[in-house]
Formats: sequence, structure tokens, C-alpha cells
Amino acid sequence: MRYALITDEQVEKIYGQSLCTHLYSLGLDIQLFSFPAGESSKTRATKEKLEDALLSEDFGRDTRIIALGGGVVTDLAGFLASTFCRGVELILIPTTLLAMVDAAIGGKTGVNTDLGKNMVGSFYAPQKLFVYPEFLKTLPEQEWFNGGVEMLKAGLIADAEFFYDFSKIPIALAIERAIEIKRRIIAQDPHEKGLRRVLNLGHTIGHALETLSDYQISHGQAVAAGIILEAEISYRMGILKKEALAQIKERFPPVTVSFDFQAIFDIIRRDKKSAESCPRFVLLQDIGVPHSFEGSYCTEVPYKILKEVLYDAALCSC
Ligand code: ADP
Ligand code: ZN
Repeated sequence: MRYALITDEQVEKIYGQSLCTHLYSLGLDIQLFSFPAGESSKTRATKEKLEDALLSEDFGRDTRIIALGGGVVTDLAGFLASTFCRGVELILIPTTLLAMVDAAIGGKTGVNTDLGKNMVGSFYAPQKLFVYPEFLKTLPEQEWFNGGVEMLKAGLIADAEFFYDFSKIPIALAIERAIEIKRRIIAQDPHEKGLRRVLNLGHTIGHALETLSDYQISHGQAVAAGIILEAEISYRMGILKKEALAQIKERFPPVTVSFDFQAIFDIIRRDKKSAESCPRFVLLQDIGVPHSFEGSYCTEVPYKILKEVLYDAALCSC
């Protein structure tokens, strides 16, 4: 067995080098491969470079990929593992809060293209997953926010108690509960035929904002904005009560990003949930309760309501 430890240059310095040296000293045939940190590296081009590097070092079917890092690393290295020599073993070691509670759970891999996030990828479950909250000791402030937003989202779509308790319980326990929620949802719908879509709450608008900003807006900021706006849509469609909307707004920071409506709309149209170019959204019925819409868990939203909500949030410069 040959091990390829894949990480980004930031995590390489903090943990990658020493982990690689340690595993090598234990007798593992292991080599480290890294790429520049950040969402802009999550591309086919980076995957291709890594593949060429592995192949030129004669890595073959007996490869085990260890992905050490945040969501960018786990998504990219996971996708690579799923196609390298038609699929090799994958070990995930998430090092950000976001990757621990979200990216590394559920077997989705992928890369971004110019037209959107995660547009090319695969379903590929790791053979092993190690979640060590100790990695979080060095986590930058912004990254705590990114993970926190996904954890609040988990509460919103499935567990009202967790939504309210989230900030009061120890982090290791909160991570466990968030993972449990995601796993429970996925177990009921592994290939996203219905229920699993609820994990997309806030992401239809969120991904559009991220894409438009060229990833200058963080995933957490974008999804927080997306959740507030999609909750607002739920309210204006008569599905969510006013009090619940107020509770949600209270727990997320206000939306401060500004974009052209048409540009956002064009991206939303291409979202994987869109049917015949009509935008569909995960909507909320209450805190902890997604709107089922006959089991599809995504609801067509009239253009007019979408436009009004985006306009009112001062998201558009038009
Ligand atoms: P995410 O996990 O939010 O999708 P990334 O994979 O891009 O995001 O990771 C965010 C940033 O945090 C990257 O610059 C990465 O190198 C850095 N990073 C990842 N894990 C840690 C850690 N445990 N300590 C410090 N920095 C980290
Ligand atoms: Zn997300």
C-alpha cells in the first residue's frame, strides 16, 4: 500500500509535514502532495496537477489517499480518490469545523467551475474518517464562523433544540450532534432524491453569492445571507411564521453583500435543484422543520417573490 497525503500549503505547514514524517517513521510508504490554500484552488486544474504528480511518482491502484485539511482539501482529494485508477481508498482527516460537521460527512466530493460551486464531482464514501477537534486550536476566527453557520443550519432543518442550544454546549458535543443530524438525514436519502436536499438550505442563494464574488465572500457569510433570505422567502410564501423568521434573523448576522439581481438570478437558474430553469428552494415551515412539498423538499418560488426579497435585502445594485 502506498499513501498519498494530500493537503493545502497552509495545513501542510501546521500539521501536514509532521504527520507525514510521523507516519513515515512508523513504516508507512507515504508522500505529501500540496496545493495553494483557498477555495480558488478547488478546480479541475488542481486535481489534474495532483493526478499528474501522483502518476509521475508511480502511484497506482494500491494507493490510499489521505485528505488532511478543510473542506477544500476533503472535497478535492475525495474527488481525486474517486477517479484515480478508477477509484482508490480514501481516508478523511478534516481540520476545520466546517469540514468536520459538513464537508467530510455524507460522501460528496467535487470541484468548482467558473459557472458554479461543486458543479463537477462524485458520491464517494471514505473508508475511514477521523474527527479530532484538537485541530481546531489553530483555526482562524473566520473559519469558526463558517462552521458555526453550517451547525445552525443543521438545527434549522432538523433539530430545533440544537438550534437554540448550539452555543451553550461544549464544542466536541456540538460537533457530534451536528454530524449525527447530517448522517440521519443522509441515511434516509443517500442520493438526494428528496429529503437530503434540506441540507441545501441557504445554499441556493449562498452559492450564487460566493460564485459572483469570486469566493471573496466566505462560505459562512454567503450561506448565512442565503439562510436569512430563504427564510424570508418562506415567510412571504406563507409557509414560515413571522416569529420564527425573527428568531432566525436574530441568530445570524445581517446581510451586507450587494450584487446585481440578474447576475444572481442567472446563477440560481443553473442550480442543481432547478427544474426547467425555474428556481427551486428549500423552504422552512418552522425552526427544525423543513417544508416537505410532497416529499421533494424543494419548492418553486415565483420570480416575483424572489426578486422582491433580493431587492429588499438591498442585494442588488440595479
Ligand atoms: P473550509 O473548510 O471552510 O471549506 P478551507 O478548506 O479552504 O475551508 O480551509 C480554510 C482555511 O483554513 C485554509 O486556508 C486552510 O489552510 C486553513 N486551515 C484548515 N485547517 C486549519 C487548522 N486546523 N488550523 C489553521 N488553519 C487551518
Ligand atoms: Zn455549506
